[in-house]
Amino acid sequence: MGVQLRADEIFAMSDRWVMHTYGRIKLAFVRGEGSRLFDVEGRSFLDFVSGLAVTSLGHGHPKLKQAIVEAAESLLHTSNYFYILPQAQLAERLAEVTGFDRVFFANSGAEANEAAIKLARRYQVKSGRAGRYEVISAINSFHGRTLATVTATGQPKYHAGFEPLPAGFRYVPLNDLEALRAAITDTTAAVLLEPVQGEGGIHPCTPEYLQGVRALCDQHGLLLILDEVQTGVGRTGTFLAAEQYGVKADICTLAKGLGGGVPIGAMLATEEAAKGFEPGSHASTFGGNFLATRAALAVLDVLFNDGVLERVPQAAQRLWKGLKGLAERHPKVLGEVRGLGLMLGVELKVPGSRFLNGCLEKGLLVNVIGDKVLRLLPPLTVSDEEIDEALRLLELVCEECASECQDSAS
Ligand SMILES: *Cc1c(COP(=O)(O)O)cnc(C)c1O
Repeated sequence: MGVQLRADEIFAMSDRWVMHTYGRIKLAFVRGEGSRLFDVEGRSFLDFVSGLAVTSLGHGHPKLKQAIVEAAESLLHTSNYFYILPQAQLAERLAEVTGFDRVFFANSGAEANEAAIKLARRYQVKSGRAGRYEVISAINSFHGRTLATVTATGQPKYHAGFEPLPAGFRYVPLNDLEALRAAITDTTAAVLLEPVQGEGGIHPCTPEYLQGVRALCDQHGLLLILDEVQTGVGRTGTFLAAEQYGVKADICTLAKGLGGGVPIGAMLATEEAAKGFEPGSHASTFGGNFLATRAALAVLDVLFNDGVLERVPQAAQRLWKGLKGLAERHPKVLGEVRGLGLMLGVELKVPGSRFLNGCLEKGLLVNVIGDKVLRLLPPLTVSDEEIDEALRLLELVCEECASECQDSAS
């Protein structure tokens, strides 16, 4: 404790000892405050990544801090052999704000989705339809990295080298209802979709599509699983993105923003779908422990009682308008602006790495997907001033990129 290494020393130590599964950006952070992160060298960054839609209350929110301290002082973990109040309270609160009946707690998005896939299969078995095991998901989707969830992920690059993949998964193009209808067979158990594809490049479902999927599921006795790991917990302006579509799923998964940085995932189900599980069907040692559920309760408290969720649409509108303006002024650099709420993507017409470096140099943290889509996930607590500041920095990067385009053309 108390040791502070230089950035290059941290990079070297990490690269030597941590398994190489991430392509990392050469920044080492030591502290955060609201919408800002500070690195080892004392530089300040405006954080429009939020740890990938995780730190939705920003960094160091006093109520979240308080909840974590209280858990540390009273209890961290007991195992699910026993009852703890915050877990019960969080389940009740999640049910109240979503309309679902039952909650299973996990520790991550992948685990929540894994639970959802298992529940869907067992639900069909227990309903006397044992031959129904297949899960249909969308091309370009992302559902996690466990073997089942990576198989549900409709992107071949995530499958390579992990074969044989588990059986029982099939993919259809997003927003094509006829393709889904044609893919349903008497082995289909469930349809799994993100209301807005996140890792796939910020592609929203159209309302007609999601409503059509709901109707098809009802017609064929299939469960609709919505993966709201990224879109959920207020990210899109409503607690669940599905609310804006007027669609109620049978099973819904949450994770990223739920603990505000403390790892927690949740699978929510209707009473009917929850029939699939009974004591012993599924479990998690850490799932829903005292620390994590206490933290998530604080997140929900701030979202609903401190006006944070209520303000998201207005903040989103400001950022959206600003990005549209930028795209109009810099048509050689930016293309389509897409997304919902504070989950926004902008098509890049210059190499994503170039654009990202420009942002980082100016002290703005953003994310680029596949070198071609700029993804913005600011904290839900972001102020108007911070949105304007981010837009000014993005404008500077656009100007640089545009002038480079001109140079290389002449
Ligand atoms: C991030 C993400 C996951 C995986 O979550 P992990 O916590 O990394 O396992 C699953 N689904 C969606 C939609 C995600 O964005």
